[in-house]
Amino acid sequence: MAGHPLEAHIRDIPDFPEPGIVFKDITPLLGHPEAFDAALGEMIEPFLDLAITKVVGIEARGFIFGAPIADRLGAGFVPVRKPGKLPWSVRSQEYALEYGTDTLEVHNDAVGPSDRLLIVDDVLATGGTARATVDLFTGLGAKVEGLSVLMELVFLGGRAKLTDIDVHAVVHHDPT
Ligand code: AMP
Repeated sequence: MAGHPLEAHIRDIPDFPEPGIVFKDITPLLGHPEAFDAALGEMIEPFLDLAITKVVGIEARGFIFGAPIADRLGAGFVPVRKPGKLPWSVRSQEYALEYGTDTLEVHNDAVGPSDRLLIVDDVLATGGTARATVDLFTGLGAKVEGLSVLMELVFLGGRAKLTDIDVHAVVHHDPT
């Protein structure tokens, strides 16, 4: 099956940030106006009629896509950040990494029970980050409608951790 044309604007960086990882570098796509515009349009498309009230961006590359998507949807934007970055009182969600744990935070007044959320990030890999983000917002009483990413690393199976929400990826990357 031929790949998605936008995949040509995503660069592979082998062994970054550590040996064995192929990092998906989205900066060529960001620097190409037509490709960036097309990526935003395709990321948003399944969610146009869902009355999304807030778009959640996951630090840091989720901010780059999440903010313009929020603007296009007429929704607010909510940043999810690494620990200690947000100045107001926060809700935290810990999640497991291959070695150890990590934590994500959001201001605990960022959303309410009437909000319908779309979570945005650049890459879906193992799904741990997205799962923790869903749990963070469910814990605040908001309804998570879906996750939209530019690229899904299909071979890592992250989607299986997210069966309770609508997961949309523009580029499905599976080298196997
Ligand atoms: P995961 O929790 O494993 O789904 O990882 C998702 C997060 O890590 C996202 O915020 C991605 O930006 C980043 N990430 C994971 N793997 C890669 C990769 N191969 N290339 C670029 N970013 C990645």
